[in-house]
Amino acid sequence: MTLGCKLNQYDSEMVLAQFRAAGCETVENASDADLCIVNTCSVTTTAERKVRNTLRSVYRKNPKAKILVIGCTAERTPETLSGFPGVIGIVGNAEKEHILEIIKRYAESKTPVIEVGGVSQSVKWTDQVRLDGLLGRTRSFLKVQDGCSQFCTYCIVPKLRGRGRSQPISEAVDHASYLIDKGFKEIVLTGCALGTYGFDFEMSDGLTRLLVALDKIPGSHRIRLGSVEPWAVTADFLRVIADSERICPHLHIPLQSCDDSVLRRMNRRYRVADIREILDSAFRLREDWGFGSDIIVGFPGETDEQFENTRAFLYDSRISYLHVFPFSSRPGTAATKLPGFIESGLKQNRVKQLAALDAELRKRFYERHLGKSCRVLFENRYVNGLLAGHADNYLDVYIVPSPGLIGKHVEVKIEKLSTDGVEGALHEREEP
Ligand code: SF4
Repeated sequence: MTLGCKLNQYDSEMVLAQFRAAGCETVENASDADLCIVNTCSVTTTAERKVRNTLRSVYRKNPKAKILVIGCTAERTPETLSGFPGVIGIVGNAEKEHILEIIKRYAESKTPVIEVGGVSQSVKWTDQVRLDGLLGRTRSFLKVQDGCSQFCTYCIVPKLRGRGRSQPISEAVDHASYLIDKGFKEIVLTGCALGTYGFDFEMSDGLTRLLVALDKIPGSHRIRLGSVEPWAVTADFLRVIADSERICPHLHIPLQSCDDSVLRRMNRRYRVADIREILDSAFRLREDWGFGSDIIVGFPGETDEQFENTRAFLYDSRISYLHVFPFSSRPGTAATKLPGFIESGLKQNRVKQLAALDAELRKRFYERHLGKSCRVLFENRYVNGLLAGHADNYLDVYIVPSPGLIGKHVEVKIEKLSTDGVEGALHEREEP
Protein backbone atom coordinates (compact mmCIF):
# COMPACT_ATOMS: atom_id res chain seq x y z
CA MET A 1 0.00 0.00 0.00
CA THR A 2 1.32 3.38 -0.94
CA LEU A 3 0.47 6.54 0.94
CA GLY A 4 1.51 10.08 0.04
CA CYS A 5 2.99 11.58 -3.08
CA LYS A 6 3.76 10.46 -6.63
CA LEU A 7 7.36 9.93 -5.68
CA ASN A 8 6.21 7.33 -3.18
CA GLN A 9 4.23 5.55 -5.92
CA TYR A 10 7.40 5.45 -7.96
CA ASP A 11 9.46 4.17 -5.03
CA SER A 12 6.88 1.46 -4.30
CA GLU A 13 7.21 0.21 -7.85
CA MET A 14 10.98 0.21 -7.45
CA VAL A 15 10.65 -1.92 -4.31
CA LEU A 16 8.18 -4.28 -6.00
CA ALA A 17 10.53 -4.63 -8.97
CA GLN A 18 13.20 -5.96 -6.58
CA PHE A 19 10.79 -8.53 -5.13
CA ARG A 20 9.52 -9.57 -8.58
CA ALA A 21 13.10 -10.03 -9.78
CA ALA A 22 13.56 -12.44 -6.86
CA GLY A 23 10.56 -14.51 -8.01
CA CYS A 24 7.86 -13.09 -5.73
CA GLU A 25 4.34 -12.43 -6.91
CA THR A 26 2.02 -9.58 -6.01
CA VAL A 27 -1.57 -10.25 -4.97
CA GLU A 28 -4.59 -7.95 -5.05
CA ASN A 29 -5.68 -8.25 -1.42
CA ALA A 30 -3.74 -7.92 1.81
CA SER A 31 -5.61 -10.99 3.09
CA ASP A 32 -3.82 -13.19 0.48
CA ALA A 33 -0.31 -11.87 1.11
CA ASP A 34 2.63 -13.42 3.00
CA LEU A 35 4.28 -10.05 3.23
CA CYS A 36 2.52 -6.66 3.23
CA ILE A 37 4.58 -3.58 2.50
CA VAL A 38 3.30 -0.16 3.53
CA ASN A 39 5.11 2.80 1.97
CA THR A 40 4.46 5.76 4.25
CA CYS A 41 4.21 9.56 4.19
CA SER A 42 5.07 12.05 6.94
CA VAL A 43 4.33 15.36 5.32
CA THR A 44 1.56 16.32 7.79
CA THR A 45 0.14 15.01 11.06
CA THR A 46 -2.89 13.80 9.06
CA ALA A 47 -0.61 11.78 6.76
CA GLU A 48 0.98 10.10 9.77
CA ARG A 49 -2.43 9.33 11.27
CA LYS A 50 -3.30 7.60 7.99
CA VAL A 51 -0.14 5.50 8.30
CA ARG A 52 -1.16 4.27 11.74
CA ASN A 53 -4.72 3.53 10.57
CA THR A 54 -3.39 1.67 7.53
CA LEU A 55 -1.14 -0.53 9.65
CA ARG A 56 -4.06 -1.41 11.93
CA SER A 57 -6.29 -2.15 8.94
CA VAL A 58 -3.69 -4.36 7.20
CA TYR A 59 -3.25 -6.35 10.40
CA ARG A 60 -7.04 -6.72 10.80
CA LYS A 61 -7.32 -8.01 7.22
CA ASN A 62 -4.47 -10.46 7.61
CA PRO A 63 -3.23 -11.15 11.16
CA LYS A 64 -0.85 -13.80 9.79
CA ALA A 65 0.96 -11.51 7.36
CA LYS A 66 4.29 -9.97 8.11
CA ILE A 67 4.25 -6.21 7.67
CA LEU A 68 7.20 -4.21 6.41
CA VAL A 69 6.99 -0.43 6.87
CA ILE A 70 9.07 1.69 4.51
CA GLY A 71 9.38 5.36 3.53
CA CYS A 72 9.13 8.67 5.35
CA THR A 73 7.30 7.73 8.57
CA ALA A 74 9.59 4.69 8.87
CA GLU A 75 12.44 7.17 8.69
CA ARG A 76 10.91 9.57 11.22
CA THR A 77 9.49 7.37 14.00
CA PRO A 78 10.89 3.83 13.54
CA GLU A 79 10.56 2.77 17.17
CA THR A 80 6.88 3.76 17.40
CA LEU A 81 6.02 1.86 14.21
CA SER A 82 7.91 -1.24 15.26
CA GLY A 83 5.45 -1.65 18.14
CA PHE A 84 2.46 -2.19 15.81
CA PRO A 85 1.13 -5.76 15.62
CA GLY A 86 2.46 -7.76 12.67
CA VAL A 87 5.32 -5.37 11.91
CA ILE A 88 8.55 -7.26 11.26
CA GLY A 89 10.66 -4.52 9.79
CA ILE A 90 11.14 -0.78 9.41
CA VAL A 91 13.11 0.30 6.38
CA GLY A 92 14.16 3.90 5.69
CA ASN A 93 14.33 5.81 2.43
CA ALA A 94 17.93 4.97 1.55
CA GLU A 95 17.77 1.38 2.80
CA LYS A 96 14.73 0.45 0.71
CA GLU A 97 17.02 0.29 -2.32
CA HIS A 98 18.46 -2.90 -0.77
CA ILE A 99 15.26 -4.25 0.69
CA LEU A 100 15.88 -7.88 -0.33
CA GLU A 101 19.05 -8.11 1.73
CA ILE A 102 17.14 -6.71 4.71
CA ILE A 103 14.29 -9.18 4.36
CA LYS A 104 16.78 -12.03 4.01
CA ARG A 105 18.37 -10.97 7.29
CA TYR A 106 14.95 -11.11 8.91
CA ALA A 107 14.31 -14.57 7.43
CA GLU A 108 17.55 -15.86 8.91
CA SER A 109 17.29 -14.29 12.36
CA LYS A 110 13.47 -14.11 12.77
CA THR A 111 14.17 -10.90 14.66
CA PRO A 112 12.41 -7.67 13.63
CA VAL A 113 14.74 -5.38 11.73
CA ILE A 114 15.04 -1.60 11.89
CA GLU A 115 17.22 -0.14 9.15
CA VAL A 116 16.92 3.64 8.85
CA GLY A 117 19.04 6.79 8.83
CA GLY A 118 21.28 6.17 5.81
CA VAL A 119 19.51 8.92 3.89
CA SER A 120 21.55 11.57 5.71
CA GLN A 121 24.56 10.24 3.78
CA SER A 122 22.73 10.16 0.42
CA VAL A 123 24.36 13.00 -1.46
CA LYS A 124 24.56 11.52 -4.95
CA TRP A 125 22.02 10.13 -7.36
CA THR A 126 22.12 6.36 -7.30
CA ASP A 127 21.19 4.14 -10.21
CA GLN A 128 17.51 3.37 -10.20
CA VAL A 129 15.78 0.20 -11.25
CA ARG A 130 14.49 0.88 -14.79
CA LEU A 131 10.73 0.68 -14.44
CA ASP A 132 8.40 -0.26 -17.25
CA GLY A 133 5.95 2.54 -16.58
CA LEU A 134 3.64 3.26 -13.77
CA LEU A 135 0.44 5.10 -14.41
CA GLY A 136 -1.17 2.42 -16.53
CA ARG A 137 -0.49 1.70 -20.17
CA THR A 138 -0.68 5.26 -21.45
CA ARG A 139 1.29 7.40 -18.99
CA SER A 140 4.41 6.77 -16.97
CA PHE A 141 6.26 8.61 -14.24
CA LEU A 142 9.95 9.24 -14.68
CA LYS A 143 11.78 10.03 -11.44
CA VAL A 144 14.66 12.40 -12.14
CA GLN A 145 15.29 13.95 -8.73
CA ASP A 146 15.17 13.03 -5.05
CA GLY A 147 15.74 14.78 -1.71
CA CYS A 148 15.99 18.51 -1.11
CA SER A 149 18.54 20.96 0.27
CA GLN A 150 16.29 24.03 0.49
CA PHE A 151 15.06 23.84 4.11
CA CYS A 152 11.78 25.71 3.84
CA THR A 153 10.92 26.28 7.48
CA TYR A 154 7.76 24.14 7.50
CA CYS A 155 9.11 21.17 5.58
CA ILE A 156 10.43 17.90 6.93
CA VAL A 157 11.40 16.49 3.53
CA PRO A 158 15.14 17.38 3.67
CA LYS A 159 15.42 15.39 6.92
CA LEU A 160 13.58 12.35 5.61
CA ARG A 161 14.70 12.23 2.00
CA GLY A 162 18.25 13.58 2.27
CA ARG A 163 20.10 16.18 0.21
CA GLY A 164 18.83 17.16 -3.23
CA ARG A 165 20.23 14.91 -5.95
CA SER A 166 19.49 14.70 -9.65
CA GLN A 167 19.66 12.03 -12.29
CA PRO A 168 22.23 13.04 -14.92
CA ILE A 169 20.56 14.40 -18.06
CA SER A 170 21.92 11.63 -20.30
CA GLU A 171 20.46 8.92 -18.01
CA ALA A 172 17.09 10.68 -17.85
CA VAL A 173 17.01 10.89 -21.66
CA ASP A 174 17.89 7.18 -21.92
CA HIS A 175 15.15 6.17 -19.51
CA ALA A 176 12.59 8.44 -21.19
CA SER A 177 13.52 7.00 -24.62
CA TYR A 178 13.09 3.49 -23.21
CA LEU A 179 9.58 4.33 -21.95
CA ILE A 180 8.64 5.98 -25.25
CA ASP A 181 9.87 2.91 -27.16
CA LYS A 182 7.65 0.82 -24.88
CA GLY A 183 4.69 2.83 -26.21
CA PHE A 184 3.99 5.26 -23.37
CA LYS A 185 2.30 8.40 -24.67
CA GLU A 186 2.93 10.64 -21.70
CA ILE A 187 6.03 10.86 -19.51
CA VAL A 188 5.49 12.66 -16.20
CA LEU A 189 8.70 14.01 -14.68
CA THR A 190 8.73 13.66 -10.94
CA GLY A 191 10.95 14.40 -7.95
CA CYS A 192 10.90 15.65 -4.37
CA ALA A 193 11.75 19.19 -5.41
CA LEU A 194 11.91 19.12 -9.20
CA GLY A 195 12.66 22.85 -9.27
CA THR A 196 16.04 22.12 -7.70
CA TYR A 197 16.97 19.68 -10.48
CA GLY A 198 20.66 20.13 -11.32
CA PHE A 199 21.53 22.24 -8.25
CA ASP A 200 23.77 19.36 -7.11
CA PHE A 201 25.71 19.69 -10.40
CA GLU A 202 26.05 23.45 -9.78
CA MET A 203 23.56 24.03 -12.61
CA SER A 204 21.07 26.76 -11.76
CA ASP A 205 19.08 26.08 -14.97
CA GLY A 206 19.27 22.29 -14.79
CA LEU A 207 15.55 21.71 -15.32
CA THR A 208 15.50 23.92 -18.42
CA ARG A 209 18.46 21.99 -19.85
CA LEU A 210 16.77 18.69 -19.05
CA LEU A 211 13.62 19.81 -20.90
CA VAL A 212 15.64 20.89 -23.92
CA ALA A 213 17.28 17.44 -24.03
CA LEU A 214 14.00 15.53 -23.53
CA ASP A 215 12.24 17.63 -26.14
CA LYS A 216 14.59 16.24 -28.80
CA ILE A 217 13.44 12.63 -28.34
CA PRO A 218 11.37 11.77 -31.40
CA GLY A 219 7.95 10.11 -31.07
CA SER A 220 4.24 10.80 -30.63
CA HIS A 221 4.43 11.31 -26.88
CA ARG A 222 4.12 14.33 -24.61
CA ILE A 223 6.12 15.31 -21.55
CA ARG A 224 4.47 16.66 -18.43
CA LEU A 225 6.16 18.22 -15.43
CA GLY A 226 5.28 17.37 -11.85
CA SER A 227 5.32 20.14 -9.26
CA VAL A 228 8.00 22.77 -10.03
CA GLU A 229 9.12 25.35 -7.48
CA PRO A 230 8.75 28.97 -8.66
CA TRP A 231 12.50 29.68 -8.70
CA ALA A 232 12.93 27.24 -11.60
CA VAL A 233 10.29 29.00 -13.70
CA THR A 234 12.56 31.44 -15.52
CA ALA A 235 11.94 33.24 -18.80
CA ASP A 236 14.05 30.61 -20.65
CA PHE A 237 12.21 27.75 -18.97
CA LEU A 238 8.83 29.19 -20.01
CA ARG A 239 10.05 29.79 -23.55
CA VAL A 240 11.26 26.19 -23.95
CA ILE A 241 7.81 24.92 -22.93
CA ALA A 242 5.89 27.50 -24.93
CA ASP A 243 7.83 26.68 -28.11
CA SER A 244 7.61 22.90 -27.71
CA GLU A 245 5.12 20.61 -29.41
CA ARG A 246 5.74 17.89 -26.82
CA ILE A 247 6.17 19.58 -23.44
CA CYS A 248 2.78 20.27 -21.88
CA PRO A 249 1.89 23.90 -21.09
CA HIS A 250 0.89 22.84 -17.61
CA LEU A 251 2.76 23.91 -14.50
CA HIS A 252 1.96 23.06 -10.92
CA ILE A 253 3.86 25.66 -8.93
CA PRO A 254 3.75 25.31 -5.12
CA LEU A 255 3.45 29.01 -4.22
CA GLN A 256 2.44 28.23 -0.60
CA SER A 257 1.55 31.89 0.03
CA CYS A 258 1.15 35.12 -1.92
CA ASP A 259 2.26 37.40 0.89
CA ASP A 260 5.90 38.51 1.10
CA SER A 261 6.13 38.45 4.86
CA VAL A 262 4.76 34.88 5.06
CA LEU A 263 7.06 33.77 2.22
CA ARG A 264 10.03 35.22 4.08
CA ARG A 265 9.11 33.32 7.26
CA MET A 266 8.69 30.16 5.18
CA ASN A 267 12.22 30.69 3.79
CA ARG A 268 10.86 30.62 0.25
CA ARG A 269 13.24 32.33 -2.14
CA TYR A 270 10.78 34.36 -4.22
CA ARG A 271 8.33 37.15 -3.62
CA VAL A 272 4.86 38.06 -4.88
CA ALA A 273 6.38 40.26 -7.62
CA ASP A 274 8.23 37.16 -8.94
CA ILE A 275 5.00 35.15 -9.00
CA ARG A 276 3.27 37.93 -10.90
CA GLU A 277 6.14 38.06 -13.39
CA ILE A 278 5.98 34.26 -13.93
CA LEU A 279 2.27 34.36 -14.73
CA ASP A 280 2.46 37.49 -16.88
CA SER A 281 5.44 36.17 -18.89
CA ALA A 282 3.80 32.78 -19.37
CA PHE A 283 0.54 34.20 -20.70
CA ARG A 284 2.42 36.61 -22.95
CA LEU A 285 4.01 33.55 -24.60
CA ARG A 286 0.82 31.53 -25.05
CA GLU A 287 -2.79 31.65 -23.86
CA ASP A 288 -3.55 28.04 -23.10
CA TRP A 289 -1.52 27.37 -19.93
CA GLY A 290 -2.91 25.37 -17.08
CA PHE A 291 -1.44 26.55 -13.77
CA GLY A 292 -2.02 24.73 -10.49
CA SER A 293 -0.69 25.63 -7.08
CA ASP A 294 -0.31 24.41 -3.49
CA ILE A 295 -1.14 26.88 -0.74
CA ILE A 296 -0.55 26.54 3.01
CA VAL A 297 -2.92 28.51 5.23
CA GLY A 298 -2.51 29.27 8.92
CA PHE A 299 1.29 29.39 8.80
CA PRO A 300 2.54 30.70 12.19
CA GLY A 301 1.89 34.42 12.47
CA GLU A 302 -0.27 34.62 9.31
CA THR A 303 -2.53 37.59 10.02
CA ASP A 304 -5.97 38.14 8.49
CA GLU A 305 -4.40 40.76 6.26
CA GLN A 306 -1.63 38.41 5.07
CA PHE A 307 -4.15 35.68 4.33
CA GLU A 308 -6.29 38.20 2.45
CA ASN A 309 -3.25 39.20 0.37
CA THR A 310 -2.91 35.58 -0.72
CA ARG A 311 -6.62 35.16 -1.42
CA ALA A 312 -6.89 38.43 -3.36
CA PHE A 313 -3.80 37.68 -5.46
CA LEU A 314 -5.11 34.25 -6.39
CA TYR A 315 -8.59 35.61 -7.13
CA ASP A 316 -7.12 38.07 -9.65
CA SER A 317 -4.78 35.47 -11.19
CA ARG A 318 -5.28 33.04 -14.07
CA ILE A 319 -4.33 30.06 -11.94
CA SER A 320 -6.60 27.14 -12.82
CA TYR A 321 -6.78 25.15 -9.59
CA LEU A 322 -5.51 25.07 -6.00
CA HIS A 323 -4.52 22.39 -3.51
CA VAL A 324 -5.02 23.92 -0.08
CA PHE A 325 -3.42 22.64 3.13
CA PRO A 326 -3.75 23.87 6.71
CA PHE A 327 -0.29 24.38 8.24
CA SER A 328 0.85 21.23 10.03
CA SER A 329 3.65 21.54 12.55
CA ARG A 330 6.40 18.97 11.89
CA PRO A 331 8.71 18.21 14.79
CA GLY A 332 12.29 19.18 14.04
CA THR A 333 11.46 21.92 11.53
CA ALA A 334 12.21 25.62 12.09
CA ALA A 335 8.52 26.64 11.81
CA THR A 336 7.68 24.83 15.06
CA LYS A 337 9.62 27.54 16.91
CA LEU A 338 7.95 30.48 15.17
CA PRO A 339 5.55 32.60 17.22
CA GLY A 340 1.92 33.20 16.28
CA PHE A 341 0.28 29.77 16.50
CA ILE A 342 -3.01 29.81 14.54
CA GLU A 343 -5.80 27.86 16.14
CA SER A 344 -7.47 25.09 14.19
CA GLY A 345 -10.89 26.80 13.74
CA LEU A 346 -9.29 29.78 12.02
CA LYS A 347 -7.14 27.53 9.82
CA GLN A 348 -10.21 25.57 8.75
CA ASN A 349 -12.06 28.78 7.97
CA ARG A 350 -9.20 29.86 5.68
CA VAL A 351 -9.12 26.41 4.05
CA LYS A 352 -12.85 26.80 3.32
CA GLN A 353 -12.39 30.22 1.76
CA LEU A 354 -9.66 28.96 -0.55
CA ALA A 355 -11.63 25.82 -1.38
CA ALA A 356 -14.44 28.10 -2.60
CA LEU A 357 -11.89 30.08 -4.60
CA ASP A 358 -10.50 26.85 -6.07
CA ALA A 359 -13.99 26.01 -7.37
CA GLU A 360 -14.28 29.48 -8.90
CA LEU A 361 -10.83 29.28 -10.56
CA ARG A 362 -11.60 25.84 -12.01
CA LYS A 363 -14.90 27.08 -13.43
CA ARG A 364 -13.17 30.04 -15.06
CA PHE A 365 -10.53 27.68 -16.49
CA TYR A 366 -13.18 25.35 -17.93
CA GLU A 367 -15.15 28.27 -19.37
CA ARG A 368 -12.07 29.64 -21.16
CA HIS A 369 -12.13 26.49 -23.31
CA LEU A 370 -15.75 26.56 -24.47
CA GLY A 371 -15.96 26.47 -28.26
CA LYS A 372 -12.21 25.89 -28.62
CA SER A 373 -10.42 22.73 -29.55
CA CYS A 374 -7.56 21.09 -27.69
CA ARG A 375 -5.34 18.04 -27.92
CA VAL A 376 -6.36 15.29 -25.50
CA LEU A 377 -4.81 11.99 -24.48
CA PHE A 378 -7.54 9.55 -23.44
CA GLU A 379 -6.78 6.92 -20.82
CA ASN A 380 -8.59 3.74 -19.96
CA ARG A 381 -10.75 5.65 -17.46
CA TYR A 382 -14.49 6.26 -17.52
CA VAL A 383 -16.66 8.70 -15.56
CA ASN A 384 -20.46 8.43 -15.82
CA GLY A 385 -20.09 6.37 -18.99
CA LEU A 386 -17.84 8.94 -20.69
CA LEU A 387 -14.21 8.35 -21.61
CA ALA A 388 -11.86 10.59 -19.61
CA GLY A 389 -8.58 12.17 -20.56
CA HIS A 390 -6.42 15.21 -20.03
CA ALA A 391 -5.66 17.99 -22.46
CA ASP A 392 -2.03 19.12 -22.69
CA ASN A 393 -2.77 21.84 -20.13
CA TYR A 394 -4.34 19.28 -17.75
CA LEU A 395 -7.95 20.23 -18.45
CA ASP A 396 -10.19 17.24 -17.64
CA VAL A 397 -12.00 16.32 -20.85
CA TYR A 398 -14.81 13.78 -21.30
CA ILE A 399 -16.15 12.34 -24.53
CA VAL A 400 -18.64 9.69 -25.65
CA PRO A 401 -16.47 6.56 -26.01
CA SER A 402 -15.65 5.26 -29.46
CA PRO A 403 -13.20 2.54 -30.48
CA GLY A 404 -9.50 3.30 -30.86
CA LEU A 405 -9.34 6.45 -28.75
CA ILE A 406 -7.40 5.15 -25.75
CA GLY A 407 -3.71 6.00 -25.83
CA LYS A 408 -4.02 8.38 -28.79
CA HIS A 409 -3.61 12.14 -28.92
CA VAL A 410 -6.78 13.48 -30.52
CA GLU A 411 -8.27 16.91 -31.15
CA VAL A 412 -11.48 17.56 -29.23
CA LYS A 413 -13.88 20.46 -29.66
CA ILE A 414 -15.08 21.60 -26.25
CA GLU A 415 -18.86 21.90 -26.13
CA LYS A 416 -20.04 22.22 -22.55
CA LEU A 417 -19.03 22.28 -18.91
CA SER A 418 -19.33 19.22 -16.70
CA THR A 419 -18.98 19.10 -12.92
CA ASP A 420 -15.23 18.59 -12.89
CA GLY A 421 -14.12 19.47 -16.39
CA VAL A 422 -15.55 19.81 -19.86
CA GLU A 423 -17.30 17.62 -22.38
CA GLY A 424 -16.51 17.66 -26.06
CA ALA A 425 -16.65 15.84 -29.36
CA LEU A 426 -13.98 14.47 -31.63
CA HIS A 427 -12.64 17.16 -33.89
CA GLU A 428 -9.97 15.56 -36.01
CA ARG A 429 -7.97 12.41 -35.32
CA GLU A 430 -4.19 12.68 -35.43
CA GLU A 431 -2.35 9.89 -37.17
CA PRO A 432 -1.09 7.32 -34.63
S1 SF4 B 1 11.66 23.06 -1.66
FE1 SF4 B 1 9.91 21.67 -1.28
S2 SF4 B 1 10.81 19.73 -0.53
FE2 SF4 B 1 12.42 21.33 -0.39
S3 SF4 B 1 12.27 22.09 1.73
FE3 SF4 B 1 11.01 23.46 0.43
S4 SF4 B 1 8.93 22.56 0.51
FE4 SF4 B 1 10.37 20.98 1.27
